[in-house]
Amino acid sequence: MLLPVKRSFAIAFLCTSFAIGQPATFAASDWQIIKVNGHDYLSVDNVSRFYGLPAGVAAAGDKIRLETVSPLEFVSGSREAMINGARSWLCFPLVEQDGKFLVSRTDVAKTIEPLVRPHRVPNVGKIQTVVLDPGHGGHDKGQVSRYGYEKDFALDVARKLRPLLQAKGLRVIMTREGDYFVPLEVRAQIANAARNPIFVSIHFNGTNDDPNATGFEIFSFTPRGAPSTSDSAVALSSFNMQPGSEVDAQSMALSACIYHSVLGHIPEYDRGIKRARFAVLRLTKVPAVLIEGGFLTERGECKLISNKDWRGELAAAIGVGIENYRGLGVRKQPPMLVADYRKQTKSAPIEPVIQEGKSKEANSAPTEPVIQEGQLKEADASLISLVGKSKFVSPQQTSTPSQRTSLESDVIVP
Ligand SMILES: [Zn+2]
Repeated sequence: MLLPVKRSFAIAFLCTSFAIGQPATFAASDWQIIKVNGHDYLSVDNVSRFYGLPAGVAAAGDKIRLETVSPLEFVSGSREAMINGARSWLCFPLVEQDGKFLVSRTDVAKTIEPLVRPHRVPNVGKIQTVVLDPGHGGHDKGQVSRYGYEKDFALDVARKLRPLLQAKGLRVIMTREGDYFVPLEVRAQIANAARNPIFVSIHFNGTNDDPNATGFEIFSFTPRGAPSTSDSAVALSSFNMQPGSEVDAQSMALSACIYHSVLGHIPEYDRGIKRARFAVLRLTKVPAVLIEGGFLTERGECKLISNKDWRGELAAAIGVGIENYRGLGVRKQPPMLVADYRKQTKSAPIEPVIQEGKSKEANSAPTEPVIQEGQLKEADASLISLVGKSKFVSPQQTSTPSQRTSLESDVIVP
């Protein structure tokens, strides 16, 4: 059930809609930073007005709405959110104070911004090489199921994906070609030595805790000063920090592109876009994600994963996501979202989407930008002034290495 505050967001959005075509009115002073225990927060209403997107907040303990009406859906007291129709995990829980719902400044800059506007992420989409990393190998079987090992399924998905990417003119490097173990640091070194690479690690999930656990999830590296999604203590533990990647925002954009495509093509449960400090994500210095393509410990999903045609669909969906990521740098427009893919697959059955020549999604109209171009400059300027130049780099200022370094050089706490 939604709280009454939902209505005011809807009204705020309507006002924004009527204002389209007029000069942007969102000034830096419109960001109202609210301190909670010394940390910086912004109201959900404030964020909603900035992006011109309606937002909803469910009461603490309530389930998030899945039949999402609003592009931004939060739950009071929770890190769970729905952003553009996919579950996305905030670094810090939503706080309620004086009748206002507040989201951490870190999440506005590090989670919401790259997920809502991945096409505005500095240097996004510039790729020549895709480093495919099939998880495990050799003595390390990964998850063991009645139908086979994770290491073999992951390798097969990578093998199916390679020619699809090559057909799009991308160079593909595999961290392993067969059934042998490659140390995690070597996998990262391979990625770091490649030319304009992205790193995509392919795994399947498993758990001893819940035999019914299912679904897809994708990880990128946890931002500096923030807890990982699986950390239950989110306050003090986050001060035990490791340096965040310079390419946090690019990795989030890559996560979003791949995840929306995978979820949009294959209707498995949406576990969400998450953060972790897995070794391969920590050691790679390039945009990097780790995808978990379902649970080998759940009967139904295990059966799907063991089916080579299904693995072909998964490979194709990852490929479309990678192609969408590359498109961000070319088209400077938002990528296709889960709802766009579902509309597409309703009218045409799922098929290997990357073929020679143009990809399917390149021919269809991309999702409309949420804010008009004239408004974007103003909006960016005010977001930069909010989070500080050293912590958030505008698209125009991003190419110098010194600024890329400074993006991560400061500690960010909410
Ligand atoms: Zn694994």
